[in-house]
Amino acid sequence: MKEKIAYSMISLIIIAGIFLTYPQMHDMSEMSMSEQTESFISLRESIQDGMRSQHRYKCCLEKPCTLCIEKTPGHGEEAECDCLSDIMNGVHPCGECMGQILEGHGNKFLSKYFAKAIAEKLGEEHTGTIKEIISEKYGISVGDQI
Ligand SMILES: [Zn+2]
Repeated sequence: MKEKIAYSMISLIIIAGIFLTYPQMHDMSEMSMSEQTESFISLRESIQDGMRSQHRYKCCLEKPCTLCIEKTPGHGEEAECDCLSDIMNGVHPCGECMGQILEGHGNKFLSKYFAKAIAEKLGEEHTGTIKEIISEKYGISVGDQI
């Protein structure tokens, strides 16, 4: 008898689950790809804004990175971006930030710190090359970089 009740409880929960998730799945599939992209971007921005207001999103790019939202374990409560302090401390930032910096999209006020921080990941033997790239992208001389 107890088992029967347990089974019917479980199937009730499963059915309720299907009813609760189905409308959301349905909504997503009704959205066009560009609507999905739009909703992804606005969700991303609202996560970044929320974290920024709690001083948990300190990026080193002109436009904050997205990777730090997902790479930090147990996102939500635990997520944060500290690429800014990584850069200042000669530690490499996240992969997205490294790529964006080399493309010239880093915060230019941090440009003298970029080469050292990126070389920490790529290998110090590449420091000279990285400094030349930073110099070209940010208009700062090789000698002014740390
Ligand atoms: Zn980052």
